Amino acid sequence: MKSWEIRQSFLDYFAQKAHTIVRSAPVIPADDPTLLFTNAGMNQFKDVFLGKGSRPYVRAADTQKCIRASGKHNDLEDVGRDTYHHTFFEMLGNWSFGDYYKQEAITWAWELLTDVWKLPKERLYATVYQDDDESFQIWKTATDINPDHIIRFGEKDNFWEMGETGPCGPCSEIHIDLTEDGSGHSLVNVGDYRVIELWNLVFIQYNRQSDGSLEPLPMKHVDTGMGFERVAAVLQGKGSNYDSDVFQPLFDRITEITGVRYGASMDDPLDIAMRVIADHARTLTFALSDGAMPSNEGRGYVLRRILRRALRYSKNLGYNEPILHQLVGTLAASMGDVFPELRKQQETVSKIIRAEEESFIVTLDRGIEIFNEVIEQVRSANSTTITGEDAFKLYDTYGFPFDLTRLMASDVGFSVDGEGFEHCMQQQKTRARTDRKEKHQVQDDGSQWLWFSDVHRSEFAGYDQLEMPVLI
Ligand code: ATP
Ligand code: MG
Ligand code: MG
Ligand code: MG
Repeated sequence: MKSWEIRQSFLDYFAQKAHTIVRSAPVIPADDPTLLFTNAGMNQFKDVFLGKGSRPYVRAADTQKCIRASGKHNDLEDVGRDTYHHTFFEMLGNWSFGDYYKQEAITWAWELLTDVWKLPKERLYATVYQDDDESFQIWKTATDINPDHIIRFGEKDNFWEMGETGPCGPCSEIHIDLTEDGSGHSLVNVGDYRVIELWNLVFIQYNRQSDGSLEPLPMKHVDTGMGFERVAAVLQGKGSNYDSDVFQPLFDRITEITGVRYGASMDDPLDIAMRVIADHARTLTFALSDGAMPSNEGRGYVLRRILRRALRYSKNLGYNEPILHQLVGTLAASMGDVFPELRKQQETVSKIIRAEEESFIVTLDRGIEIFNEVIEQVRSANSTTITGEDAFKLYDTYGFPFDLTRLMASDVGFSVDGEGFEHCMQQQKTRARTDRKEKHQVQDDGSQWLWFSDVHRSEFAGYDQLEMPVLI
């Protein structure tokens, strides 16, 4: 099955179970100050779970655009290293708003995976929350899963929360063992990359309060999420999401641009770089198509960091030109049918990304030189820690986000003094504030300009000439 058929077959399955098929919400949450990016399919239904809103249906299904690069769910550092965590991914989901509950959620998930999609039952595992005897029994009696494959786990693995506060509850997850001989049962949930989590069935019953307590909700709901790229890879017989047809067009295009081919090996530095570039191009394209802008604060800064991280990896391919904007069209072509906003915003998004890439490339090489000098100094002082001041200089003068410096440092076995860096940032902010008071010029609107040095200011000026993307 092609990936678009898989997506469609998920939606068809739940439509046939009386679910209303809804559109993905934008990756930029409309009005949730607790979230920078949509991180799960349930976000757009938060008000329903909390009893504050309602929908004209009690069952829904969709594919939701998600970004996990900040906050409680942050997978940025996994990207490149493993083959199944992305910063941008699609989450297939089905929901019950006070309607059906555990029995249907579990049996339908099992039926879709094993009956419709014919996944090998002997490779599937179900985890349940330690106290959730009800789910344990349903798995045991209402499905034909091997009873030895039903495993109980504690809060860390089987109690799902969208953030520090908000709807949450115990969950039951389905994992697949992708080891060659199917010997991965003892590895479930311990992070072996060959036993991966496919689908999470969450039984939403509480609202986590800011004091940490759990307040029971007026009704009980089902909230499920399945990684689309993961299930596509599995159904296409691939051991890595990046080998599925979801990523193929991107890799073809990167090869066209750089001459480097994908697929040498999991740890090959060129493969790692290609995975990072493909992943980050998706995140930037989807986020900007939904109206986000790179900036120096909050959501915009997460995007800027992601872009700079990708450009740093692009150098590993021996390619020193802006590359990400060249992938926007590829994504619009391959995913524009499902997400029309990509085509609609293609030109604008590509322009913004290009300007952002160009401005960073100007300082990237010089920054890398400085970084290497810093490494030499640290080494000759018999240390392995880069000082906060040096990291701050790289940030302030060369636009190196802290985590990029940390990443480059860890590549050579060094660490960075985060507290020292934070201290320099605070000093800089205080200086800027005093400066502002003295000059009475800059508006105090809490905007991204607050932390800007002159370098950043002039670098950013380019955007004025660009149209802002239209919000959808
Ligand atoms: P994992 O343990 O693999 O990090 P998770 O438990 O954090 O996944 P959930 O919050 O339960 O993930 O999200 C539901 C589903 O979304 C997961 O079962 C998985 O298939 C998929 N998923 C989660 N994070 C990612 C990601 N970063 N990239 C791709 N798919 C993901
Ligand atoms: Mg996770
Ligand atoms: Mg998990
Ligand atoms: Mg999970």
